[in-house]
Amino acid sequence: MILYDPALTMRFQDYGIMLPIAPDRGDRTLRFLDQGYFPGTRGKTLPYPGPVFSITDALTLLKDWTVVTRRDLERAHRGEYIAGLYGDGAGPRSSRSAVLERALLETYELIDDQGRPRRYEPERAVKPLTDLFGLILAQVTGTYIACRLALADGPGFCYYLGGGTHHARYDRGSGFCLINDAAVAAFKVLSDGPRAFPRRGERGIRLIWIIDLDAHKGDGTAELVHFARDRGFLASPAANPVAPGEEGAGGAPRVLTLSIHMARGWPLDPESLAKAEPGRAPLVPSDVDIGIDEGDEAEYSPRLAAGMGELERISGEPPDLIIVVDGADPYEHDSLPSTIPLKLSLEQCLERDNLVYRYAVDRGIPSAWIMAGGYGDRAWEPAGHFLRGLR
Ligand SMILES: [Zn+2]
Repeated sequence: MILYDPALTMRFQDYGIMLPIAPDRGDRTLRFLDQGYFPGTRGKTLPYPGPVFSITDALTLLKDWTVVTRRDLERAHRGEYIAGLYGDGAGPRSSRSAVLERALLETYELIDDQGRPRRYEPERAVKPLTDLFGLILAQVTGTYIACRLALADGPGFCYYLGGGTHHARYDRGSGFCLINDAAVAAFKVLSDGPRAFPRRGERGIRLIWIIDLDAHKGDGTAELVHFARDRGFLASPAANPVAPGEEGAGGAPRVLTLSIHMARGWPLDPESLAKAEPGRAPLVPSDVDIGIDEGDEAEYSPRLAAGMGELERISGEPPDLIIVVDGADPYEHDSLPSTIPLKLSLEQCLERDNLVYRYAVDRGIPSAWIMAGGYGDRAWEPAGHFLRGLR
């Protein structure tokens, strides 16, 4: 099924942000799937993969109105960072929202080294910049609901036409990403307990893979997962068999990460690497990192398949859920200049997506897909053609 909420479309220009991210890619994906579609049609059935739900519809379907809360953000991010975004602490209201505004300016890189606006024209804004926070939180909820929908429906499949903020780090925004939706959603699902997933039995959800197909390394996700292991919320990536007589399913749950990305583009470019702090993104490795060099597009799918095999070997068992960060920016017609070193054709994008999709379906593993990247007029094409090709 598809999850989509037109009310959550981020029109950056409304906030004076002149980013080339295509805000209508979700809507255009749906229009391509069904010319008769119009937003707000509850449960309208497409040829495949089934109905389109808004987040409100989905919560009704799940009979559970659990949404992502501040506590859920704090499970993945540093508490002080989240407190700042919510405007906690001393000082008048204006200085409290200034912390959020500063975080947004940094996240979307709207101020240059000399303190001048960059791609930012506040005089053209029709909404306050800080209003973006509510939309971002709702998008994170969307990613979580996509996981719940995938898990509710046997070896389910849910494609959320939103989310994908994989650069957000433990204590700061980065690369247009304020909150890391995949990490927050994964950690929340692991914390929900078996009762939230009656079809899964007593075991509940213990192992999640995050497979990141964006052109840019999923550096924030790798950092958040590593830090969660350091503080004991997550277990180490390798399977740890339950000792006889030990309670439960073997201690802390696990999240494993795979990222396939441009070998040298941001955040792995020389300037970013020179500025990087030790032990922090982008230097934190994913459990499986696959860097694709310029001109090596033909190797993309074989190396992705081998990487998933490696993830399987490290895990020692199949995951309960796969979250797929389905980046559109490796596509050759994506218009972001910095992703030029990776140019997958439409066929190669489809081969990539179908490889992961078939892996999950053939093994009965639920998968939740989120969008990422996606710049310019044709950003919707890889997801649109992938979804239309599913039968
Ligand atoms: Zn990207």
